[in-house]
Parts: sequence; C-alpha cells; structure tokens
Amino acid sequence: RPADIECRMVVIGAGPGGYTAAFRAADLGLDTVLVERYPSLGGVCLNVGCIPSKALLHAADVIEQAAHAAAYGLDFGKPRIALDRLRAYKEKVVGQLTKGLAGMSKQRKVRVVQGTAKFVSPHELEIAGGDGKPRLLRFEQCIIAAGSQAVKLPNFPWDDPRVMDSTDALELQEIPKKLLVVGGGIIGLEMATVYRALGSEVTVVEFMDQLMPGADKDLVKPLADRLKKQGVAVHLKTKAATVKAEKKGITVGFESAVEGQKPELESGTWDRVLVAVGRAPNGGKLDADRAGVRVTERGFIPVDRQMRTNVPHIFAIGDLVGQPMLAHKATHEGKLAAEVAAGGKKEWVARVIPSVAYTDPEIAWVGVTETEAKAKGLKVGVARFPWAASGRAIGLDRTEGFTKLIFDEATHRVVGGGIVGVHAGDLIAEVALAIEMGAEAADIGHTIHPHPTLSESVAMAAEVYEGTITDLY
Ligand code: FAD
Repeated sequence: RPADIECRMVVIGAGPGGYTAAFRAADLGLDTVLVERYPSLGGVCLNVGCIPSKALLHAADVIEQAAHAAAYGLDFGKPRIALDRLRAYKEKVVGQLTKGLAGMSKQRKVRVVQGTAKFVSPHELEIAGGDGKPRLLRFEQCIIAAGSQAVKLPNFPWDDPRVMDSTDALELQEIPKKLLVVGGGIIGLEMATVYRALGSEVTVVEFMDQLMPGADKDLVKPLADRLKKQGVAVHLKTKAATVKAEKKGITVGFESAVEGQKPELESGTWDRVLVAVGRAPNGGKLDADRAGVRVTERGFIPVDRQMRTNVPHIFAIGDLVGQPMLAHKATHEGKLAAEVAAGGKKEWVARVIPSVAYTDPEIAWVGVTETEAKAKGLKVGVARFPWAASGRAIGLDRTEGFTKLIFDEATHRVVGGGIVGVHAGDLIAEVALAIEMGAEAADIGHTIHPHPTLSESVAMAAEVYEGTITDLY
C-alpha cells in the first residue's frame, strides 16, 4: 500500500516531550511530522496539567494573601468569585501557549497531523481520526511521546460528573461545598489548595503515612501545619474503600491502611470527589508490538541512556518511559532523543531532576533526600537554615519555611537539597545547578547572593554546614 505521508522523523504525541523532540529534530534538519490526537498542541502539561493548575494556584494565592493582609493593616473583605471569568483567565493562559506552539511548528516546517497513531510495522503507522479515513505514514525514525493518563480507581462511579480526575477538577465547573480529595500527592494537594481558597470545605485522604510521599517528612510538615490551620482535614493511612453515587452526594466509606485497625474517618457524603492517585503510562495503547517495541505489563516503554527502545530506530521519552512523570524531564529527554536520532553522540546523564509541589507553602526537592541517604547508608551531612532568620521571609510574613542542603561528608559536595516556603520551586534551581556542577559547601557559601532575598537561605545553609554563618538580617 502506498503511504499517504512519508517522513524521516515522526513524533507521536505533542506534549512537552513530543513538541520539544519535533522542534529539535526539525532544527537539526530532519524532515519531521508531529502526530497528535487532539486539535490543541501541548499535551497534558499545557492543556490539563502544569499550566492551568498554576494559573488557578495564582488566583488561590491572591485570595490567600488578601485574607492575611489584615494582619498588617490592609482590609480587603471576602472575595467575590466570578467563576466564568476565572475559567476564562485559565483558558487564556493555556491558549496563549498552545497557539504559540502551533506558530513555532509552522516556523520550523514541522508537519502537524491530527489523529491517533498506532504501529502497523517497524516503519509504518496508521493514523485514525482527524479528518477522514485512516492514513498510512511511513517513517525512517520515530520518537514515541504518548504520555500518560490519570489512574481511574475501578470502584468509583466514573460516569457521575461529581467524581473527578484532575482534568475534570481543572474545568472548575462549580465550587463544591464539600470536596473529598483521594490522594495526598502533588496533584491532589495542588487542587486541594485551589478549591479551599475558592471556598470549598476540603478533606484529604492518603494511603501512605505522610502527605507527598517521596519528599522528606520535615519538608512536608510546614504544609501539613498550614493546611490544618486553614481547616483542611487530612487523614493519613486511610483508603477510600466503598463509593456510592447518591442523590444527596457521593458517599464514601474508608478502611485503614493498617490491617485490623479502624479507619480514622467515618464514612461520609461529599458534593464532589477528586481522585488523584497517580498516572498510568500510555505505552500499551500503540500496538507497539507490531514494530517489535517492548512494553512492560504496566505500559512503560524501557529505553537506554540515549532514549532508544529495543528497536534502534525507535525512541521513547517522557511520562511513558518512567518516573518521575514531570514535564521538565520529558523536554530534556525529547531534546536528547532528537539529537541522537540526528547522529549526535550523547546520552542521558542528568544527575538530578527537581520535584516541586506548588502548594502553599511550596515544597521543592532535588537529588538525594535525607530519607534516601539513611536507607542507603550514605555518609552525608545535613544543614538547615530556618527562614525565621531571613529578613525577606519576615517581611513577607512567611517565616514557616526552611532550606536544607545535604552534603557528601567526605568531599563537602552538595548531593541533595529541599526547600519549603513561598517560591521554593524557583529557589530549588540553584541547588540543582550546584549538584550538576559538583559544587562544594564553600562554593555556595562564598557566592554573593543578593540581600534581602529568599535565595540567601541557600547560601546560609551552606555556611551553616561550613560553620561560617553570619547574621542574615
Ligand atoms: P503528555 O503531556 O502526556 O503528552 C502526550 C500527548 O500524546 C498528548 O497530547 C496525547 O493526546 C498524545 N497522544 C497519546 N497517544 C497518542 C496517539 N496514539 N496518537 C497521537 N497522539 C497521542 N509536571 C511538571 O513538571 N510540573 C507541574 O507543575 C506539573 N503539574 C501537573 C498538574 C497536573 C494536574 C497533571 C495531570 C500533571 C502535571 N505535571 C506536571 C506532569 C506533566 O504534565 C507531565 O509530566 C508531562 O505532560 C509529560 O509530558 P509527555 O510529553 O511525556 O506527555
């Protein structure tokens, strides 16, 4: 059968991994096609992930700051929320970015094809949907960037619109009086932050024994304390076991994660329930076996350090190659795969991938965590700098944060770090750079940081470690 479309490089999926890979491949001179099932480019991150959630978190932050300003003599009163205008703002932010991508594709002569791609052979894809009958695309090389989707717990009545995944929650159809969030990870807690600020009474249940599993417990504590103060009910080691859609609401019954123990929380009824218990890779939905590409039982596609699958001319990147499922990991991998495909002799050597929860306060960590260091028996030293000693944090009336650096005991090189506090997500980049550059405590401490900024807390943590601390005020 003759092909409808022929190209040197095809990228499946236009999320942050896919569009980055396609743009880089085109910049390197490869004739590139980008296949995306939805009309809008940008994938989960731009359409229903990072970007809309941060736009709504900004609104939540404004509400929160206005509520606290009374403490320093500024009275704003109760906010009036025009949900349609807030939704329009979020959509404007998303639209600006996705339209930008369409323009950038055109500029680079990347051909964008709308439709759902599946493999029919090691060098062919069938693209269904979009406009008209399925088309056959023949390629020399391929980058699979089909991403992931929210895990839908099977015991939930998903046909009821009051049961939501993160995409539904971002649509902001209404502000429920009572919201139950199942899952106390990054996505669940970010959405809890938004809905609480908008006026919902929020309950969070988490199966593990701490919120934000993966982050050190001490980093999570200031957030847990603030949520408690704000009236958010958090129940750890708790599992949503039975769920029933009723006229009066969604009734949920709980079990303790500890066998034989009674759950902390009695069954109850909520106006809406958000399920945020993780994301599943889309690797199993592409008929990849027809191209000979290995896919694990869970739907991940294994790759080597050059992002190659077991089939050398087919690469895979982003959420579907493994954890952490983060946009900045996907873009980095996308660039690498395109460069290798174009003949570059490179491999994946990133030592650290920062994680950020854009909650209030934000929590950010990178490299080795304290928990990990203990578990692996690494010889490390830990230094903390409390923000109660930072003039800037005091001025912002946000002293609950702290900055922690983790050093290799023998070399004094920084190997990890964590920050909790406002803007922690922006501040963690310095720690990531320090790890990548092999910086020692003295290198960070001797670097002049502008005063008064929260960034000084990074230098101060290094000075605490070196024993050369000076007063911050
Ligand atoms: P995706 O973004 O999932 O894109 C895959 C694309 O492939 C999609 O557009 C899909 O439609 C398309 N596709 C799938 N199958 C096919 C097919 N067969 N044919 C054609 N097209 C196909 N990460 C961060 O780093 N920071 C954050 O703040 C952050 N916030 C988040 C908030 C939420 C609510 C969610 C859900 C996620 C968040 N993430 C965040 C995670 C981030 O969105 C993902 O890590 C990132 O989008 C992964 O990029 P990707 O390119 O691998 O895939």
